[in-house]
Amino acid sequence: MDMLNQKPELKSPARCLCSLVLLLLLLTITGLTTNMKAQNWVQMREKMVSEQMRGRDIRSASVLNAMREVPRHHFVPEQYQQLAYDDRPLPIGWEQTISQPYMVAFMTEQLQLKPGMKILEIGTGSGYQAAVLAHLGCMVYSIEVIPELANKARQVLQQLNYNNVEVLTGNGYLGWEEHAPYDAIIVTAAPEEIPQVLIDQLKEGGTMVIPIGGVNELQYLKMVYKQNGQISSQSLMPVRFVPMVNEPSAE
Ligand code: SAH
Repeated sequence: MDMLNQKPELKSPARCLCSLVLLLLLLTITGLTTNMKAQNWVQMREKMVSEQMRGRDIRSASVLNAMREVPRHHFVPEQYQQLAYDDRPLPIGWEQTISQPYMVAFMTEQLQLKPGMKILEIGTGSGYQAAVLAHLGCMVYSIEVIPELANKARQVLQQLNYNNVEVLTGNGYLGWEEHAPYDAIIVTAAPEEIPQVLIDQLKEGGTMVIPIGGVNELQYLKMVYKQNGQISSQSLMPVRFVPMVNEPSAE
């Protein structure tokens, strides 16, 4: 019994102080690493913008700013987070990909967007492109055909407080009649031809950027203009996008 009583123990106030110091130390270290990590992402984005965007041909200050500020790493699966700011597309599951950062910036710049514009996006995917559009102050309506991707994108966009994006689980070939006409339309999956419904839902004077081409065919990114009810288009560059699936007439 005596032996037990002789166990060397810190007196209670000293013990408290010790635990407090340890706790503070732990909190400081955790805080520092979180801060360092956040700082890292900021630096990675800065590098991405200067090398992949400004270093190429992206000139719009508002687009460059959106690319600098939208946290792309939140939109990619955890195992690819460190690659989020690399010059490449990345898998997002269900055989789909998040576009290369340059492609997101390029397509966005083509549309010459202004705050308050109403945009339709076909192919929400990860939700990243929608976040970039929302960051520019646009109201974004985005359609995704794969329900799991639509849910995930909705979740991330909500967590990051992008309240000006609505995601619909559905078929982009049908457009989103309820909010039409749109100032601009951005399509991030490739159909074989420009879907007539999307032309119908584009505002007079509006613009659409869309990759066109069949599976295993060379695709071209096209700029489409609607003027006096007439459509004109211009090819911008060869591209490779996942196919736009579920064309109604093909079923
Ligand atoms: N903009 C996305 C990239 C999307 S990849 C991003 O920023 O991550 C193209 C997406 O289009 C895929 O998620 C694919 O499921 C979707 N898609 C393909 N066909 C579609 C259709 N008919 N309607 C809506 N979405 C479609």
